Amino acid sequence: MKITEHLNNAKKTLFSLEVLPPLRDETIQELFAHIDPLMEFKPPFIDVTYHREEYVYKKRENGLLEKIPVRKRPGTVGICAAIINRYHVDPVPHIICGGFTKSETENALIDLDYLGIENVLLLRGDAIKNEPRFQPEEGGNAYALDLIQQVNNMNKGIYLDEELENRTKTNFCLGVAGYPEKHFEAPNLQLDIEYLKKKVEAGADYVVTQMFFDNQKYFQFVEMCREQGITIPIIPGLKPITTTRHMTILPQIFHLDMPSDLTKELMKCKDNKQAKQVGIEWAIQQSKELMEWGVPCLHYYSMGKSYSVRKIAEALF
Ligand code: FAD
Repeated sequence: MKITEHLNNAKKTLFSLEVLPPLRDETIQELFAHIDPLMEFKPPFIDVTYHREEYVYKKRENGLLEKIPVRKRPGTVGICAAIINRYHVDPVPHIICGGFTKSETENALIDLDYLGIENVLLLRGDAIKNEPRFQPEEGGNAYALDLIQQVNNMNKGIYLDEELENRTKTNFCLGVAGYPEKHFEAPNLQLDIEYLKKKVEAGADYVVTQMFFDNQKYFQFVEMCREQGITIPIIPGLKPITTTRHMTILPQIFHLDMPSDLTKELMKCKDNKQAKQVGIEWAIQQSKELMEWGVPCLHYYSMGKSYSVRKIAEALF
């Protein structure tokens, strides 16, 4: 079923989560062990992230370094198929522009269509680690907007090879990313939202936000979006803090602010067990307020660890 249908049919706030494909030295059983305890809260959909290649340097016998591309977390499409088989819920594969030609993207979308997958979250992706800025693949999509246009074309039966006849019309529901605290490359939030509006005009059906720890940021973002005429659902994404290190790592990676009430509590923690508890309590308070405000769904970035998300879900769903 499409995410928009799940949202429309919902009688109360939905619970959903995002998972990462396992690392190469982990097994899919480990991922299942993380998802299994969350299934009792009936997520109608589970997002599966996509991780582009990174470059590692290996020393050869002649002493020279060889640059080798490595994909540390392969398997997004396979994990989606496994989620359908095991849990009978809708997987939402993330599709990124980076590292793909349009033709490779088309092939991936054909695979997803054959698997009966009806939802995709369309993203630009980030720069390759250690590269200064995002570079699209030659013959690839440069912005999420271009990717939306490609998938929307396939939904109309328009494929890259215009001479093809009897082309299947895919039936994807399109999700996109939104940033309550602005995407880090955008000069200001207003312009970032104008670009988001273009994604909506191109066919996006719903938005999932970057994580945030201050609900006011989400409320203001939604208000600004509505003022711009963006009427589609905006699903808040929440991440429970699990270590005191998150105080430095999360702002660095995700370009967000942490409220001082939260950092004060984390500073008092003697170990990560206490930090985890602070993270759970903060996320419960955030979730309660968002539910009261009327969000259609709460989407949790579980990052491969179910303990905190389960505690939050036990308190709310
Ligand atoms: P875009 O919407 O293309 O925007 C990128 C930047 O360009 C923004 O600053 C925007 O303001 C600007 N912009 C947009 N259009 C134009 C234009 N026409 N001209 C000039 N500027 C423009 N990354 C992964 O690699 N894998 C994942 O699985 C993944 N999942 C994510 C899930 C969510 C919910 C979120 C919020 C992010 C996720 N990301 C993921 C990270 C995402 O790929 C990065 O944040 C990336 O830098 C931007 O992606 P986007 O789709 O928002 O880009």
